[in-house]
Amino acid sequence: MGWKSLDDMELNGKRVLLRVDINVPVENGKVTDATRIERIAPTVADILAKGGQPILIAHFGRPKGQVVSELSLSVCLSELETTFGQPVTLVETLEAAEAGTLPAGIVLLENIRFHAGEEANDASFAARLAALGDVFCNDAFSAAHRAHASTTSLAKLLPSCAGRLMQAELTALEAALSTPKRPVGAVVGGAKVSTKIDLLLNLVGKLDVLVIGGGMANTFLGAMGASLGSSLQEEDLHDTARDILKQAESIGCKVILPVDGRVSRAFAAGAEYEMVTLNADTKLEDGQMILDAGDAATALIVEEFKALKTLIWNGPLGAFEIEPFDKATMAAAKAAAELTKSGDMITVAGGGDTVAALNLAGAADDFTYISTAGGAFLEWMEGKELPGVAALQG
Ligand code: AMP
Repeated sequence: MGWKSLDDMELNGKRVLLRVDINVPVENGKVTDATRIERIAPTVADILAKGGQPILIAHFGRPKGQVVSELSLSVCLSELETTFGQPVTLVETLEAAEAGTLPAGIVLLENIRFHAGEEANDASFAARLAALGDVFCNDAFSAAHRAHASTTSLAKLLPSCAGRLMQAELTALEAALSTPKRPVGAVVGGAKVSTKIDLLLNLVGKLDVLVIGGGMANTFLGAMGASLGSSLQEEDLHDTARDILKQAESIGCKVILPVDGRVSRAFAAGAEYEMVTLNADTKLEDGQMILDAGDAATALIVEEFKALKTLIWNGPLGAFEIEPFDKATMAAAKAAAELTKSGDMITVAGGGDTVAALNLAGAADDFTYISTAGGAFLEWMEGKELPGVAALQG
């Protein structure tokens, strides 16, 4: 905590600089997925209801401080107007915004990364932005791991608060990791240990149970002495894996590795596989690959879930994009969704592939909270301070 929400702010007649993430996918000049726009609608509605004027600040793509016409936020205008049910006026240059009065109603400033001062977190650029508003509201948790002018400096220059989406993210993440109902566990899966070392090291110190799955579990099994044929693994990280296991043991965090796996000779949909017991003595042949956790492993994971009050999920338990190697991820996700629905467990998930996997399992709607913040979610899980959040905490 330590940050304010819209409920704490007096907004009547105020110009509210609202940092949002509307960096939406676009194809042929059309927004193909408006999720990010839909998620900021409650904040815009609440600012308007409180008598404030929302002045949206957002980035789009990577123009790197130059005006790149293909990266104009004009592409989002009609989607914004449809979602908000109101006209939105694009103000194309900062000079136009500074010259006299801003248009009435909802205003969208052109791609803030057209200005080099944004990513450089330049003080005079931030001061120019701050002069356009009376209050700063940050609703872009997904950009909070970047120390940019519109994500950190504005919070120091104006009375500031979190928007509804930022508030929901922070509340869910604090509930999952800072003050969780115990026992608390996590599923950490995905391809590689190398991308998740910091995450694993941080979680081990905070969790009661850590389920390791996916390709990265292979690296742990390999570190224990198993020979894994052609399975994906990072042999250069065997020492790191052993360190993580040692640390978990010394702190009392129970680590669950897959006790069996679906092993195939083809990384392809519909490929034949056999169920193989996995432990330090496992010996696979060249060409054999572990592509998913097995049925016994899945049953054990689901059993562990039943004892948990909080579950954090990042990364799949197998190559979930191709059947039948989606089985463990689908079954475990469904079980976690059921436990959430019956009120027994709080479930918080995030990370790109995780959201896709939970959607495939039809489990996403039943999870307590799904973060779409990507990098910022991962950095939070790594225990890093996010500059955009720290700035709101003043
Ligand atoms: P990440 O981006 O690190 O979360 O990894 C997700 C990717 O890991 C997905 O594309 C999965 O297909 C892949 N993956 C998970 N388990 C395995 C496995 N046992 N072998 C190969 N790839 C895997």
